[in-house]
Amino acid sequence: MVSISLKNITKTFEKVVACENINLDIKEGEFFTLLGPSGCGKTTVLRLLAGFYLPDKGSIFFDDKNITNFPPNKRETGMVFQNYALWPHMKVFDNVAYGLQIRKFSKEEIKKRVSNVLNLVQLRELENRTPFQLSGGQQQRVALARALVIEPKVLLLDEPLSNLDAKLRLEMRNEIMRIQKKLGITTVYVTHDQEEALSISDRIAILRNGTVQQVNPPKEVYLHPVNTFVADFIGQCSFFPGIIEALDEHLHIRLYSGGTLISPKKDQSQVGQKVLCAIRPENFHLKTPEGEFDKIECEIVSVAFIGKSTRLHAMIGELEIIVDAPSGTDLKEGDKAIFYYLIHEVTVLEA
Ligand code: ADP
Ligand code: MG
Repeated sequence: MVSISLKNITKTFEKVVACENINLDIKEGEFFTLLGPSGCGKTTVLRLLAGFYLPDKGSIFFDDKNITNFPPNKRETGMVFQNYALWPHMKVFDNVAYGLQIRKFSKEEIKKRVSNVLNLVQLRELENRTPFQLSGGQQQRVALARALVIEPKVLLLDEPLSNLDAKLRLEMRNEIMRIQKKLGITTVYVTHDQEEALSISDRIAILRNGTVQQVNPPKEVYLHPVNTFVADFIGQCSFFPGIIEALDEHLHIRLYSGGTLISPKKDQSQVGQKVLCAIRPENFHLKTPEGEFDKIECEIVSVAFIGKSTRLHAMIGELEIIVDAPSGTDLKEGDKAIFYYLIHEVTVLEA
């Protein structure tokens, strides 16, 4: 097991800056996720770790060893590619064995290791099939086995579940977590799916345009996003721009859309300061909640039943908000409504 450090990593492709001054410290045995929209630089970071790209600037350490200029085969990383990249004409066994053969392992050692890893991913009975004779989920397992068979110090996974259907995605997600915990291998996982990132990771780095926005455990990222990009990308939020009109143990904010909002106090808050507050859809309530709360008045503009809840869009003046109400609600378009929120569940962001 190793820890990973990226120090001031920048990588450009002609005019495109894929990663800009990235600093990350990934702990030994950690399940670390790079999360962000398409094109934000996730794959580039993974390829820099694997050694398929070299950075323009900065350095990469595995423990205290500077591996910035090591070729891929000297890094002891195993990578699972987004499209699996299996050899179509080779049997499962040979696909997995390939990395050991080029490393000149003995026949017996190869047989032992491949069998062990195929057991681990539950593919032992299918070792004589070719990829064409496997489902998407099974191909995914082969790709994982092939990455693990060399007993890498670092496992790199590039959107490994994006080609699977919803049910299988959930099953493989649990499978990857099980195997990662069992082996205790330092893992860097790439996804654009925020729910997947929240459920699978020890910590998440959120990327935007090649820069790191926030690095925290899932709960922390969700409950305390550092800016509007993170707040909006992880789950959804209603945003309330306004100005602080009074200060006591809370902030009292006059909203530009009309009405007021009460939020927790931040260090250095001052009357007259512009702020942006955010509230999650599930943090609005139809009844008064337990704890210190306040309310907003609005008009419902749309109602969509989505099974476990009903999603409402409502207007406060010109401002649109999103509310998740219980699925049994009888609120309808055009209704005036009052929603309650707990003051401590309001996030205050820089305006
Ligand atoms: P992600 O994996 O988050 O979707 P990438 O790391 O693949 O993002 O890409 C980041 C940016 O770098 C994108 O704008 C992409 O077009 C560009 N890019 C990535 N790889 C190359 C390459 N080999 N040549 C030129 N541009 C690239
Ligand atoms: Mg990618």
